[in-house]
Amino acid sequence: MSDQENWGEDDDNDPDYVPPVEIENGHVTSTTEDDSESSDDEVPTTSTNGEFNTDLPTAHKYLGKLKHVSGYTLYDDEEVLEVMAIYTTTMVFPGFTLPLVINNYAEMSVMQSYIEKNSVFVLIIANAKLNGVFEYGVTMEIFENQVRINSLHIKAKGRQRCRLLGELKNWGGQLKQVIVKILAEPEITSPLCDTQLYTLKRLKPYTSEKYCDIIKNYKYRRYHLCQYPLESWVYDKYEVSYYVKLLLEGLSNYLGEYIPKDPVMLSYWFAQNYLLLHEERLHLLQLNTALERLKVGYTFLKRVRIIRCSGCDVEISDPSKVFAMSKDGIQSNYVNPGGHNYETITVTSAQNFQLEGKPSKQFSWFPGYAWTIMHCKNCGKHLGWRFTSSISKPYCFYGLAKGGVKVHIEGDCHDNKLRVFTAIFEEP
Ligand SMILES: [Zn+2]
Repeated sequence: MSDQENWGEDDDNDPDYVPPVEIENGHVTSTTEDDSESSDDEVPTTSTNGEFNTDLPTAHKYLGKLKHVSGYTLYDDEEVLEVMAIYTTTMVFPGFTLPLVINNYAEMSVMQSYIEKNSVFVLIIANAKLNGVFEYGVTMEIFENQVRINSLHIKAKGRQRCRLLGELKNWGGQLKQVIVKILAEPEITSPLCDTQLYTLKRLKPYTSEKYCDIIKNYKYRRYHLCQYPLESWVYDKYEVSYYVKLLLEGLSNYLGEYIPKDPVMLSYWFAQNYLLLHEERLHLLQLNTALERLKVGYTFLKRVRIIRCSGCDVEISDPSKVFAMSKDGIQSNYVNPGGHNYETITVTSAQNFQLEGKPSKQFSWFPGYAWTIMHCKNCGKHLGWRFTSSISKPYCFYGLAKGGVKVHIEGDCHDNKLRVFTAIFEEP
């Protein structure tokens, strides 16, 4: 790679290196009082074969050592709550982690007094037109927090979907007091689960949590379905295991071993990680069952996508280059010391960019890797960061920031978008 001459050298050893003092493009580049805590010197960053330890990014160790908060809060279905809401530019689905740095003094004091009594808040995001708050959100439970000098560091995990019923108070900035209703996560059962005698069910099962078992016993299923008016494939399409199989096959390139097989978690994994448009993710967030999310998700999976610069549309990368550097998946939320959250997609290669400045390991989201700022070659837009290491494999990869890049659907048009939402029952 022609622009990699400086890689493999640790800038800490460069006598001419003078650390800049500005917070820029997602990373602070000055020495801070927390340097010792964010150091990754004692963290094993690689396995014995030199592969990067993908557990590390999920721990968000760059935030330093935080105080653990115990508890796991699940509210009853349809329960109505009055809670604090945080408005961010990123989306987090149940099961995924949001790191936060709050450094506005007013927001810090409001949030500090809130979390003394509560560990749950609601994450809210912009609607599809980006002119207001979307009516669905996710409850987040704080599992670690720490007050630093002039900042409050928080790690929170998504728990349940909820619907906004009203706004009680605007605390200013990104904080609001809201009323929400918890949404149920109904269990998905086979459309045929109660249509067979129990004695036969044990001997000739034709429903299963695994699609391969349904296929294995398909002749029993076909005999049984003869009594119903529709073709057998219509009933097959209401088996959640069918869509689990389709999505897992479609996602097999993306760290398959860590993709959850459970339908509910898979539906959230897909919504969190796949290269989706903002409105596609909003659509998935408002769907009430895993079956619906998996069906619509599969139609999204079939669309041809490309990653372009959000400033000038030049091509930066494509889905075949996407890979996972974190066990959370290919797209994760990270935060910089300035409090700005970035959803970052990791890709093995990128094009049409230029690098700015020297590599730095400070506050690195991937321990052991040094980052260098990437700009669009064409329009200068900040795209993300190139990460490099002389020890861990891969030695080089790219973290593209949502906001700097956008997902473009090839051949997209208004009709195409509409078809996605109306043709979910067509045979794949
Ligand atoms: Zn550009």
